[in-house]
Amino acid sequence: MKNYIKHDPWQIIEEGFDQKLNRVSESIFSIGNGKFGQRANFEEKYSGDSLQGNYVAGVYYPDKTRVGWWKNGYPEYFAKVLNAPNWMRINIRINGESLNLAKADVQKFSRILDMKGGVLHRSFTAKLTNGITATVHVKRFCSLHQTRHAAFHYSLSLDQDAEVKIASYIYGNVTNEDSNYNEKFWSGVDTKAGGNACTVITETKKTAFQVGISTVTNVSHISKNIPFTSSKCNKKTAKIATAFNAKKGEEIVIEKRAAIVSSLDVEPATIESILNQEIETTKRHSFEDLCSAHKAAWAAKWEESDIIIEGDISAQQAIRFNIFQLNCTYTGEDERLNIGPKGFTGEKYGGSTYWDTEAYCLPFYQATADQEVARNLLIYRYKHLQKAIENAEKLGFSCGAALYPMVTMNGEECHNEWEITFEEIHRNGAIAYAIFDYINYTNDKKYLANYGLEVLIGLARFWAQRVNWSKHQQRYVILGVTGPNEFENNVNNNWYTNKMAAWCLDYGREAIAWVKENHASEYTRIVEATNFSASEVSKWQEISAKMYYPYSEEHGVFLQQDNFLDKELIPVKDLAASQRPIVEHWSWDRILRSCYIKQADTLQGFYFFEDEYTDEQHKKHYDFYEPLTVHESSLSPCVHSILAAKLGDEKRAYEFYLRTARLDLDDYNNDTRDGLHITSMAGTWMSIVKGFAGMRVRDGEMTFKPFLPDNWESFSFKIRFRGEVKQVTVDKDGLSLK
Ligand code: BGC
Repeated sequence: MKNYIKHDPWQIIEEGFDQKLNRVSESIFSIGNGKFGQRANFEEKYSGDSLQGNYVAGVYYPDKTRVGWWKNGYPEYFAKVLNAPNWMRINIRINGESLNLAKADVQKFSRILDMKGGVLHRSFTAKLTNGITATVHVKRFCSLHQTRHAAFHYSLSLDQDAEVKIASYIYGNVTNEDSNYNEKFWSGVDTKAGGNACTVITETKKTAFQVGISTVTNVSHISKNIPFTSSKCNKKTAKIATAFNAKKGEEIVIEKRAAIVSSLDVEPATIESILNQEIETTKRHSFEDLCSAHKAAWAAKWEESDIIIEGDISAQQAIRFNIFQLNCTYTGEDERLNIGPKGFTGEKYGGSTYWDTEAYCLPFYQATADQEVARNLLIYRYKHLQKAIENAEKLGFSCGAALYPMVTMNGEECHNEWEITFEEIHRNGAIAYAIFDYINYTNDKKYLANYGLEVLIGLARFWAQRVNWSKHQQRYVILGVTGPNEFENNVNNNWYTNKMAAWCLDYGREAIAWVKENHASEYTRIVEATNFSASEVSKWQEISAKMYYPYSEEHGVFLQQDNFLDKELIPVKDLAASQRPIVEHWSWDRILRSCYIKQADTLQGFYFFEDEYTDEQHKKHYDFYEPLTVHESSLSPCVHSILAAKLGDEKRAYEFYLRTARLDLDDYNNDTRDGLHITSMAGTWMSIVKGFAGMRVRDGEMTFKPFLPDNWESFSFKIRFRGEVKQVTVDKDGLSLK
């Protein structure tokens, strides 16, 4: 855990430059606009440790899989979110020496993320080895107003007269650190450089996505424009350069604007002309005007999604940070896009879609944005249904059974650890649950008839084939699975998975009956399209009624899986701190044999299906499982915070809230350097809304069961619900709703 970020309600502040923390800060200070985003890499050269990261939504590369022993059914590739050409690179040479914070003596340094306006600021004073001190202030943004635009304003002054050389690049020779075979993923299509403009168009190998970037760079010295005098291009990089003499204290300003488009949105043949138009548009406005329009777009976002906490700056900063990053990652206009666990902040996880979207992210977007946004998340999976059916077929299922991938970019499975790819089938349950959740929240029942039911039929068919009848138990069982707790693999009868399967079969049945009754023509269309037969439903009913659930009479709890009680149940509090996180200190087999739970598993089921269980059952399960949980998935603390709040354990609810909310700011799991935990940030939002405010939607009514953490004066947020925007405030007098 680290503690170097200064607390402030609207800003994330780092003071002083510690090269060892640079990767962590590059993640924390990331910015984006739903279409593209970037880590907080420096504009000027930096030769120290850094993960360079610029990412364009939906643009991926199918990197060839790397496994020890190939297993039938493994996907051929692991889709990677791609580190894209870098629009912002500049190089500044002062009397022949590069301004490079890895080499200079950095005397003052601050990085500030102004979350209200979505602007990243950096200031420093650095003494070069040649004795010249440079003072720099930079502002940068990825426009939320014009989501093809980004810009920075870089002001520099020196403490001595010097010759200054400035080069401005679009740098396309980029790589992914996580490339399996050290391959480069981009080919050059076209590069141009001349005057103050550069253009680079590159194409991904294999997937043939094109990304085009154009920039204009204006250099001014004591308010006089300095023309660029040379230019150079190679296959993927374009560069312009100039040189001039500056006197001590004179201000030099480098202002760079970029237009970024991809073939996801425009025809490849039109990229260049569209870039020209976009650049012309940016040229008509001053940097300040562009920035103001961007800030106004952020103001509108905050208007609908802010949570205001009075009396606890650390909690306030944290929730805003989570909301900020969620809005940087996904804005929901494009149903082909989704929410990668690292968003635009790093390479890990392949940047693809996980069950995280349905299980954790949907409620945030559902309540803080237009209904279309949540719907698009569902449509994303609807459009992938055929691929999910093909995926199931590859694994031996048939007749329209659908197994959605654990990790995907385009509907195909692209993750290849057998215990996850083949066994973490509970993801199918989260996809069904999201359909239920969306309809329950919005009342958009037509969604079921138009799209949802086809998906539910595919999912139910999968479960009906995946179970088997155990003669011995006289029950249906599900063997060889991995539950949400990935610290157990290949277990039998994971309670959460069995519960999800039975629920999906029941929900599928209900949905069929409802569509048949209310949308007869859609029903006929679906029956034909899916070749559905009514006899399937009775089988689903039988399976659900006779599903096996491991249970301990002794403890009065459902067991996470068969034989869970054979484990030595030593509470986490008895584990030496030096052993944690266990994933870093223990061998994998030791983890598998242990009782330690990575993230909510049985409790995840209680969170989803709370109305089916009594408060006493909740408490028993929470008291049994939480002490064995190490919370080594970012997705764990939020669910525990919500359950603790439900049980009235306000202290624990608050502790878990801080842990989820400040997970990245304080680097709890020592992994922020790889990127931020974007999907768990939606869980943080849920900890306040579903946890502290106790918000639920049942039978079309919104209900609350609030509590106020001791050290808070109040908290408030807005919720969109069925065409209305409601303001919820919880203070010492209770909850008010306007
Ligand atoms: C968790 C999974 C999650 C993935 C991506 C893993 O550590 O165990 O549940 O889907 O991270 O966030």
